[in-house]
Amino acid sequence: MWHEHRLLIDGELREASGGATYDNVNPATGEVFGAAADASPADVEQATSAARRAFDETGWSTDVELRVRCLRQLHAAMEAHQEQLTELTIAEVGAPRTVCASVQLAEPMGFLPYYADLAEGYQWRRDLGARDTLGGPAERWTEAEAVGVLAAITPWNVPNQINLAKIAPALAAGCTVVLKPAPETPFTALALGRLIAEHTDIPAGVVNVISSADKAIGELLTTDSRVDMISFTGSTATGRRIMEAASANVTRVFLELGGKSVSLVLDDVADFGMVAATAAFGTATVAGQGCALTTRILLPRSRYDEGVAAIADMMAAVGGPGDPSDEATMMGPLISPAQLARVEGYVATGIAEGARVVCGGRCTEGLDAGNFYDLTLLADVTNDMTVAREEIFGPVLVAIAYDDDDDAVAIANDSIFGLSGAVFGADEARALAVARRIRTGTMSINGGVWYGPDVPFGGYKQSGIGREMGVAGFEEYLETKAFARPIA
Ligand code: ADP
Repeated sequence: MWHEHRLLIDGELREASGGATYDNVNPATGEVFGAAADASPADVEQATSAARRAFDETGWSTDVELRVRCLRQLHAAMEAHQEQLTELTIAEVGAPRTVCASVQLAEPMGFLPYYADLAEGYQWRRDLGARDTLGGPAERWTEAEAVGVLAAITPWNVPNQINLAKIAPALAAGCTVVLKPAPETPFTALALGRLIAEHTDIPAGVVNVISSADKAIGELLTTDSRVDMISFTGSTATGRRIMEAASANVTRVFLELGGKSVSLVLDDVADFGMVAATAAFGTATVAGQGCALTTRILLPRSRYDEGVAAIADMMAAVGGPGDPSDEATMMGPLISPAQLARVEGYVATGIAEGARVVCGGRCTEGLDAGNFYDLTLLADVTNDMTVAREEIFGPVLVAIAYDDDDDAVAIANDSIFGLSGAVFGADEARALAVARRIRTGTMSINGGVWYGPDVPFGGYKQSGIGREMGVAGFEEYLETKAFARPIA
């Protein structure tokens, strides 16, 4: 299989200093299919110095034309290697082939030309006009500048998506980057490093990619005074630690963290077809390992049984997980045995606290080699149960009954998270009014899909700080400098 196991540091593809590597395990088979460079603190040091030097001493941060060209070159290189990258993503992430044709690879590749276009047309300078100031009249304006050196720390669930959602806008803005992927998914990031080194004019040091089995390597980046910004996607627990570490140097942070989003079904919904399809496919697509998934479904008490039955039927139609390389597979495995054990633990806790397993609730029979878990619906869940409060990160949907719209909104907002959500109802104006009351960063009305390169994504409350993607996601990587000069 085409892949790259070396780090990219200062323009060079190279082994980790000391030559250490660690195994990359296929989550669908449990087999080792490669070994990735295991970066040492010395490698982090060199990567950070290279990024700092490239920012301070090259024209990268001021040459928009070069950056636009390089983003388009990287996009072309990814397109030319799309088949290889698909196989890599299937093997490393357990992502079904069909999902690689969308959110696991093809869609995120489109972030590169989107940000190339945005940088090309961006209004870097904004006039503020003349004003009589303390020292006499002055002409004032602002210029946008790149933030500087970015540490991009990413998770394993949708690695292409998240790696590109950080590096595309950051590079478009003029930042230089040290990308540190999750230990579980090194190859998808190292492949980007290789394509950058071999197929683009991106200057040495502008992008550095370091894989490591040890999370302490990520921690080094968060306390380094040469890093101007940390862009992190991962768990809320790790986000808190990163924010704390960043406070030492008052380093800017972008955080995209956990979620426990609701799908709120109003009592006037005509039928449960769309609701059930969204619930079942939404839970299956990344085997529930997505922060923005709607993992709590709120059903009106008067129609609770009808709703639960419709979702269970749809989950049965979607079927169990299977071999992700098979075109017909909708759902793949969980990333690791540890993640599987975590999901099993949550379901056991749910049952102990009074939840009822409607379907699933167990590891997939006959697929013992990989980390497969059945599509699961837990009913009779109340919002105080652990399975309603904590992010499970597995294919488990919990169904909660509510009494009226106010009760539903209260349940939706009774969460430390506020990342995403959905409302379904026959009266669209009412659905929209309810959606506006939910404190969350993205909202789908009656199945509308908000996902796309131009749509800002991010969380309220403990789901994060800032927005990724869209214009807002570009401006995260910019500083504003104000100028004034005297006029006669
Ligand atoms: P998980 O719980 O699935 O490992 P995390 O949110 O902890 O998810 O990890 C997401 C990313 O953050 C990974 O790349 C991981 O190596 C990195 N990471 C974990 N802990 C830290 C830390 N204290 N500082 C910086 N990066 C970290």
